[in-house]
Amino acid sequence: MAESMIGLKRSCRCAEVTKNQIGETVTLMGWVQKARNKGGIIFVDLRDRSGIMQLIFENGDIDEEGFVKAGKLRSEFVIAVTGRVEARTGAVNTNLATGELEIRCISLRILSEAETPPFAVEENSKTREEIRLKYRFLDLRRPDLQKNLMVRSRVAQLTRAFMANEGFLEIETPMLIKSTPEGARDYVVPSRVHPGTFYALPQSPQIFKQLLMCSGYDRYIQIVKCFRDEDLRADRQPEFTQIDMELSFVDVDDVIDVNERLLAYLFKEILGVEVQLPIQRMTWQECMDRFGSDKPDLRFGMELKNVSEVVKDCEFAVFKNALAAGGSVRGINAEGQGGMPRKKIDKLVDFAKDYGAKGLAYVAISEDGSYKSSFAKFMKPEEMDALIAAMDGKPGDLLLFAADKNTVVWAALGALRIELARQMDLLDKNEYKFLWVTEFPLLEWSEEEQRFTAMHHPFTMPMEEDWDNIDTDPGCVRAKAYDIVLNGTEIGGGSVRIHQDDIQEKMFEVLGFTKEQAWERFGFLLNAFKYGVPPHAGLAYGLDRLVMLMVQADSIRDVIAFPKVKDASDLMSEAPAAIDEKQLQELCLKVDIPEEE
Ligand code: ASP
Repeated sequence: MAESMIGLKRSCRCAEVTKNQIGETVTLMGWVQKARNKGGIIFVDLRDRSGIMQLIFENGDIDEEGFVKAGKLRSEFVIAVTGRVEARTGAVNTNLATGELEIRCISLRILSEAETPPFAVEENSKTREEIRLKYRFLDLRRPDLQKNLMVRSRVAQLTRAFMANEGFLEIETPMLIKSTPEGARDYVVPSRVHPGTFYALPQSPQIFKQLLMCSGYDRYIQIVKCFRDEDLRADRQPEFTQIDMELSFVDVDDVIDVNERLLAYLFKEILGVEVQLPIQRMTWQECMDRFGSDKPDLRFGMELKNVSEVVKDCEFAVFKNALAAGGSVRGINAEGQGGMPRKKIDKLVDFAKDYGAKGLAYVAISEDGSYKSSFAKFMKPEEMDALIAAMDGKPGDLLLFAADKNTVVWAALGALRIELARQMDLLDKNEYKFLWVTEFPLLEWSEEEQRFTAMHHPFTMPMEEDWDNIDTDPGCVRAKAYDIVLNGTEIGGGSVRIHQDDIQEKMFEVLGFTKEQAWERFGFLLNAFKYGVPPHAGLAYGLDRLVMLMVQADSIRDVIAFPKVKDASDLMSEAPAAIDEKQLQELCLKVDIPEEE
């Protein structure tokens, strides 16, 4: 039987009651975490989003009817109680903010009863994630998820306040836009009014925010949903949130300046962490050479070394062939891992193969300075000595080498470096290492499409000093693009934009668009460029990832209220789902699913 709360008013949330209120009467409302009936006395933990308060029902404080009702309380019942704040008589619970207090109840109302939930609402739940996601409304009651979403809310609020103070205007851009396939696949929405045509959901507000700069809004910010229909990976969501911004009359340094102050502010306010400004910067080339990654984790060393010069005359075919094909030989030194069992080294080799390497060559140096190696028999002793010296190999170290195209060597060793750091426990969760990665290549060769594609997007400004090479050596042209990286995760990225129509048209040409195709897709931007466009630049953060790192969550799903799973479905609402025949007819759509082969 559900009672009403007429005549009752909540005094505060459970964990907001303080010692100063001892002796006062308060009214609290929330969910029963657990109830223990000890005969003449009933203890109840009452939970709301602030935390837990212990309630005591004892015959005499509360009338007979109330006491009987209290005996019926079970987990997840929603109740309202009025009672006196007291210092705890029993053991003080130092784990709870309210651990020194309890409420001696004088009245109880059951606002709603609850069936036994499919899993207990508790921190660090061991229940399978699929079940928790099916009952997300229950899962969201857990204190760890509630804390994550509260941090997320704080990040959004503080960002808005900070950016408003910096002169940014919050402006919404449309969700139903024209499909401009470049980058990821679009989610599309059929139009009923114009049968056979489709809107796309935005992958980012990119073009609109640039148009806002053309329209003179000077500084724009939006916390905005974006949609990308990509092949799903475990930690990717088809819809995600960006903190998106664009600024006029600025260059790289201006964007970096306001953003590092924003980051320092957020980390100070929310985590009490001082971010040292200015944040370190490194060019893309240096990142790749030293860490094999454009989002290096700087919490530890284990840098890559290019030993191509050292091994250039050796007879080991793997090294020789890689160098002859224009590739490189690089290595990392896993210090102190020389005693790693062969089986474990083989696992590292398999790991590297997942990243495209054909294998790994290794040298395991024992404490007495002798070594075991997978390839020493193909090398002269002095060549081995030179190689070990080049790697700073000391007794007890494990040296691992990859030889291939640069891209493969970087990918394999970059990933191996992180994997080893994990195994060697080098990643301090409480350390926050930020890095700006700058001077990205403008273009990236796509084997699949046999053409250059934009590494960031087609509106990214090339570096002025490289632009003359666009026809002779397009792959070497660098861009005014930057990423912000935290502990090996890219949390945001952006660029200075092209604002000159001749450069933009040339850029489309390099990307393989005809003039007609460029105008067909991006005509409204090119048109706007004809009527006065300020130099502008911008950046977007992945809000989900940023919050995930701040709360040290294991999964991006833990910082999104209603996330989707790997196959892009929602286990709770069961979206996506078929629609009625009538809806299809209105949209003039026919479904034609090819038979599985
Ligand atoms: N629109 C870009 C992105 O989503 C960010 C930017 O260039 O501002 O990655």
